[in-house]
Amino acid sequence: MDSKIWLSSPHMGGGEMKYIQEAFEHNWVAPLGKNVDEFEVAIERFLDEDKFVAALSSGTAALHLALIQLGVGYEDEVICQSFTFSASANPIKYLGATPVFVDSDKTNWNMSPEFLEIAIQDRIKNHKKPKAVIVVHLYGMPAKMDDILQVCNKYDIPLVEDSAESLGSTYKGQKCGTFGEFALLSFNGNKIITTSGGGALVTNTNDQKDKTIFLSTQARDQAPHYQHSEVGYNYRLSNICAGIGRGQMEVLDDRVAQRRANHDFYKDLFSGIDAVDVFTEINPDFYSNHWLTSITLNKNLTAKTNHDFMNAFAEKNIETRPLWKPMHLQPVFKDCPYYGENVAEELFNQGLCLPSGSNLTNDDKKRIYGVITNFQF
Ligand SMILES: *Cc1c(COP(=O)(O)O)cnc(C)c1O
Repeated sequence: MDSKIWLSSPHMGGGEMKYIQEAFEHNWVAPLGKNVDEFEVAIERFLDEDKFVAALSSGTAALHLALIQLGVGYEDEVICQSFTFSASANPIKYLGATPVFVDSDKTNWNMSPEFLEIAIQDRIKNHKKPKAVIVVHLYGMPAKMDDILQVCNKYDIPLVEDSAESLGSTYKGQKCGTFGEFALLSFNGNKIITTSGGGALVTNTNDQKDKTIFLSTQARDQAPHYQHSEVGYNYRLSNICAGIGRGQMEVLDDRVAQRRANHDFYKDLFSGIDAVDVFTEINPDFYSNHWLTSITLNKNLTAKTNHDFMNAFAEKNIETRPLWKPMHLQPVFKDCPYYGENVAEELFNQGLCLPSGSNLTNDDKKRIYGVITNFQF
């Protein structure tokens, strides 16, 4: 059997070990230290918009702390893109609040600005005003930020960007993760860069960054003894993991270029296959890091399903993955309100994510090419 081709696996740059070594030499084997500070600086420089960054143990933790700072609490409502990974919605539940799910735009795949406005109007009229909106840049594709921001501003509701999949993507030249009141980043093992596990919260002010660090380190008051006036969390990033992150930041631009090259490979490959559409930017305002290249099968042109295609890859030991199952269809969220017309559901039924790691070799691509060209659509 040929070796496994993964959907998206960690890809070290070479500089990581030196920072880990440094941490060991100075015995900063703890959730604080120079690597944590320098990793934050590297991300702040990369984002380049006077933003502040707090390094945390996961992207999920970052979203939890963002919602706390926006005052989300028991029986509040938070609007969330339905077409996403569960981590975009779970922290709403941690706080005893209810997610209100909004469908996707047909060509952009992220939150529909039209259904966002319909949802806000209906919640205000029949219930109460949502406390926040969580938009996702799925698979690296920037959401329609001008339209989304316009709606949020019109109703004065703060925007949180889930940029877990979109580090290095831009909308009209501005980096994803710099549009909202807060943005979360993830450095989990399969993301475009990794710290093995980790995340960050991007904030607009230094005070918000300080507050994030305070909450992530058990909310200790200034006092000679251990004193607490608020509930805290243990969410800070390890200094060892941050060392990996420093090395990874040095190669982030390469990683974006490599993932975009994979995307071009797939676009060329499928250009002669009518039954398959490759998900891509609708116009040059959108610049995706193409974290995962995804396709949909056109059911008018083929009787084969995404699962048939997935099995063809699996037979050759190649990992692919269905698109995210929309949150409003998940058993755990079945009682939550939903606004839309089943765009995300259709995508879920027809789509597939293809191997997209920045470390795909030419041999890997030959094997992938073989599966695609031999498949009877
Ligand atoms: C990975 C991911 C997260 C969560 O990040 P973790 O670091 O794994 O907690 C959140 N949202 C989306 C869309 C993701 O893909």
